[in-house]
Amino acid sequence: MSPVPGGSRRTAALLLPAAAAAAHIAPAATWLPGPRALLFPGLAGTGRRRHIALTFDDGPDPVSTPRFLDALDGLGVQATFFLVGEHVVRHPAVVRETVRRGHELGVHGWRHDRPWHPAFVRDAEEIARTVRAVHDLTGHRPRWYRPPYGILTTGRWRAARRAGLRTVLWSAWGRDWTADATPESVRARVAADLRGGGTVLLHDSDRYSAPGCWHAALGALPALVRDCRRAGLEVGPLRAHGPAPAPAPGEAPAR
Ligand SMILES: [Zn+2]
Repeated sequence: MSPVPGGSRRTAALLLPAAAAAAHIAPAATWLPGPRALLFPGLAGTGRRRHIALTFDDGPDPVSTPRFLDALDGLGVQATFFLVGEHVVRHPAVVRETVRRGHELGVHGWRHDRPWHPAFVRDAEEIARTVRAVHDLTGHRPRWYRPPYGILTTGRWRAARRAGLRTVLWSAWGRDWTADATPESVRARVAADLRGGGTVLLHDSDRYSAPGCWHAALGALPALVRDCRRAGLEVGPLRAHGPAPAPAPGEAPAR
């Protein structure tokens, strides 16, 4: 094969988009809860040792969210709900009721999409639009951002920062979005990764997952809260989570 003039330029042209795409998606490596908790305690939602932050994604949902609000009232627990902007404007009463019951609101994007391509301008506009929608409706300015599917890109992280939001993923999840999830499976899955200072991810809507799967998360709540309390852990929203304790000299970072 003879060298082709301009061949290296063509190779570079092929490689560049790949490199750009890699830079765009690289923070998604933080998706893995293990490395994330160890390397990025802030991103994993690591807080004070005696506290568990309880968080719900994908609402507001007029069918299922009120069931979660009632269950949480019964348990005496407040949580953080990460809302999808386009549903905030469709179901304002659910959003207001969530705040009225003392819960905290975060931003889960305007739409629940995957970031296939870098789109900083659109991301910034949509995150800011969701912040405005929540603020206009409730008078509260959200403080937290969690990207859809937990896929964090450089652009979305920067867009959230620009909107004054701190990005928080999670350290334990219930895998409550699958068709075969049960209250027992959700409780066991959360318990497997539950440590003081952790942030738990559940979903109060089945809009982006298997139909009806929210019943599993709802059913798991009483036992899950009981597990935490028996372990001497308080359950609450991210606003009560506090910063992760600084590791003592020679100690591994908090997990
Ligand atoms: Zn989601």
